[in-house]
This record gives sequence, C-alpha cells and structure tokens, in this order.
Amino acid sequence: MLRNDQLDQWDHDHFFHPSTHLGQFARGELKNRIVTGGQGAHISDREGNKLLDAFAGLYCVNIGYGRQEVADAIAEQARELAYYHSYVGHGTEASVTLAKMIIDRAPANMSRVYFGLSGSDANETNVKLVWYYNNILGRPEKKKIISRWRGYHGSGLMTGSLTGLALFHKKFDLPLTNVIHTEAPYYYRRDDLTLSEDDFVVHCARELEALIEREGADTIAAFIGEPVLGTGGIVPPPAGYWEAIQDVLKKHDILLIADEVVTGFGRLGTMFGSAHYGIEPDIITIAKGLTSAYAPLSGSIISDKVWKVLEQGTDENGPIGHGWTYSAHPIGAAAGVANLQLLDKLNLVSNAGETGAYLNKAMSDALGDHANIGQIRGEGMLCAVEFVEDRDSRTFFDPSKKVGPSVSAAMLKRGVIARAMPQGDIIGYAPPFCLTREEADTIVSATVDAVREVLG
Ligand code: PMP
Repeated sequence: MLRNDQLDQWDHDHFFHPSTHLGQFARGELKNRIVTGGQGAHISDREGNKLLDAFAGLYCVNIGYGRQEVADAIAEQARELAYYHSYVGHGTEASVTLAKMIIDRAPANMSRVYFGLSGSDANETNVKLVWYYNNILGRPEKKKIISRWRGYHGSGLMTGSLTGLALFHKKFDLPLTNVIHTEAPYYYRRDDLTLSEDDFVVHCARELEALIEREGADTIAAFIGEPVLGTGGIVPPPAGYWEAIQDVLKKHDILLIADEVVTGFGRLGTMFGSAHYGIEPDIITIAKGLTSAYAPLSGSIISDKVWKVLEQGTDENGPIGHGWTYSAHPIGAAAGVANLQLLDKLNLVSNAGETGAYLNKAMSDALGDHANIGQIRGEGMLCAVEFVEDRDSRTFFDPSKKVGPSVSAAMLKRGVIARAMPQGDIIGYAPPFCLTREEADTIVSATVDAVREVLG
C-alpha cells in the first residue's frame, strides 16, 4: 500500500477533483479524504476514521456499502463476459433481464429502457429523444425544454443548462438556447409570504402557463422536473403541485420528463417518486439507485406513447443515431439486477419510508424550535435543515459566514457525513435505506451538537 504522504502528493499534483474548489484545494485549505472501505451505512478512510454516511455517497449507495451479493454478481459477470456492446440488436442476459425488472417496477405506461452511464448522460439522451420525437411528428419548431430554478439534472452542456443553479452556469457560458426556467415549488422561499400553500400552487401553475404562452406552446417540447427538488435544497413540493403542473402540460401538448435519479428505486418509500405524487411521466430518468452505485449505470425509461413514435423514425433513416460504447454495460447491468433483488429481499424500500419518517420526526423534535432554523423538511429517506438569521423574516445569513458548511464540518468531527447543499445554508440528509433507528438517532444528535457549536 502507498504511504499516505505519497498518495497526498499525487492527489495534490495530478487528480482533478470534480465539484471542488480548485484554488482552495491547490493551496491546501481543503483537506483531502482518501476513502478505503464501507460497510452498511459507514465508510472508513485512510486515517482510520469510521464515518456514518448520512448522504449515501451522493444519495446513491441506497442498499448500503459492502454488499457481497452485488460484488459477487459483478465478479461473475466480469469473468463470464466483461463487455459486449448493445448496438444493432446485441445485448446480454444481464441487460435484458434488468430492462424487464425495471419495466415491472415502473408505472404501467412504460415500455422500453435505454441504458447510459450517468444521470447527466441519461438526461442528454432524453432531450435528444424528445427532439427526435417532434421531428418525426413533423413539428421541428417544438424543441425548447422547460426546467425549474433550483432543479438539478446534471452538469453536461445541455443538462448543466437544465440545472437551475447559478454555480453550474457561471463561466461555462450556460444555459444554452432552447432551455428556459420556471419557478421552483419552494413554498418556504416564496416571494409573497401572504400566499397560502394552495395559492402558491396556483401561482406556480400560472407562472408556467404564462411562460408557455410567452414562448409559444408550439416551440416547447418538454418539461423536466425532479419529484422532490434534490441538489437545489431537498424541497418536497406543496400538495397539489404536480396535478396543477400536469394539467398545464397536457393542455399545451408538452411532454413530461420525471428526473428520478434521486427518487427512483425507493428513496421516498415507494419504488418511484412518480407513484408517490401521482405523476404520469412520458420519460423517466434513472441512475444512482439503479445499481446503488456499485457500478455506473443510468437509464431512460420510455413510455409506450413516445416509443411508438420513435419506432417510426428509423424506417426511412436507418438506425437511430444515438448510442454509447458503454450503453447497457454488462457489469453495470449485473450490478443492477443484484441490487434490485436485494432491495426486494431486504424490504429496503419500506425501510426507507419508515426509518426516513423516523429520522425526519426526530430531527424536527430535536431542532424544530431553534431560533436559526427556518425549516426542517423531508420525504421518505430525504431530509433537510435550512438555517436563517431570522425566523420571522426568513433572512439568509451572510454567505461569508458559511453557516451550512460550518455545521457540516462540525458534524464530521462527530463522525457523521451530511451535505452542505450548494445553494443556501441547507444541510441535506439522504442516508442508505438500511439505516437503523439507532443510526438515525446518531445523525440527529450529531446535528444538534454541531448546530450548538456553530450557532449556540
Ligand atoms: N438528475 C438528478 C436529479 C441528480 O440528482 C443528478 C446527480 N446528483 C443527476 C441528474 C446527474 O447525475 P450524474 O451526476 O450521475 O451525472
């Protein structure tokens, strides 16, 4: 094994860490962490720390770390057939089986699965497919995609544009044209504090409709949204939001892409977030929980309605001009099959619902009255704590005070990883579904102690 100082030097000199403050890292102000192992809800690092991972990596290691069944499935697939492509009608037993398992679990109108590698590339695929769809239907002008401010859909060119967070646009010359943003269903942060939740839903739907009318419905192909806003702050929508949005989309013949990269495969306590909120998507994006990140794999689940049109497009044009070398990679697919089997066998989806509700309640009971906590919110195994300088006016802390990052650093000292979300002083929690109530209590007490240390 390499010496720690050697590894640190190479890390400093050669490794480009994504989503990292490059200047701070170069100056040594940001300490690296080399992760060496994981078991259940815990990871361990080179320094010998054992940490409770209350964010499941990046809300992805849903079945927990160290599952032998998945490791064995990957090893067996690698020995038998590490790779074959899926172009021109090819496939493997693992990829075909996984497609069938996904369709069995997806909403009833879903028909086919296209496999990619990441949530970002899956959403790139989705945009291309809705463009292709409208071209086949003879509507070449119907191309714009609507997403929400604070939505997160990836960090590619198109998907970084769809993402409604300034950090992902700034200095990258994004968003690209053809992407437009509408209001986030973030009731706590509404501009008009006099609005009731019901009125705010009406307001969101009106804003969407006004945008569609301004741009022209015949120029808009699709709306993309996460059932629960994730990276934008872990914000469950107000009751009735999805019904109101879908009414507008149907009226204007706009497709709906549900980005279930975080919520797919159980995080809300139901197999899909769409079922949880009565969403009827035309396309669903999946990644993370599909393999619990044991191997990179994503997917676009395509409804029957969209599929029937896509099929027509290739008759005169030859094969569809879309595919990656690693689409439906057999090792990822084998990991996906073993992962979904474990989710069922261990009842992890219902545990996500039950232990997630326990975590959310325990967090609210412990910190709900704190003078600098504006809101504690969540759904299933997702939870967020939002800090404010003043509860009544909901004023933010000065960003230079770095309240969110300080709380997460103080939690880390206590052995618990939670995520300071990229916009606003919000701490996010998205633990693995195997979390126990004792582990949930540890997360809450680490938060309480960290909040006391930072804010008193
Ligand atoms: N969509 C959503 C809802 C996500 O949360 C993420 C990643 N956090 C993505 C897309 C992009 O996935 P990836 O990082 O695998 O490209």
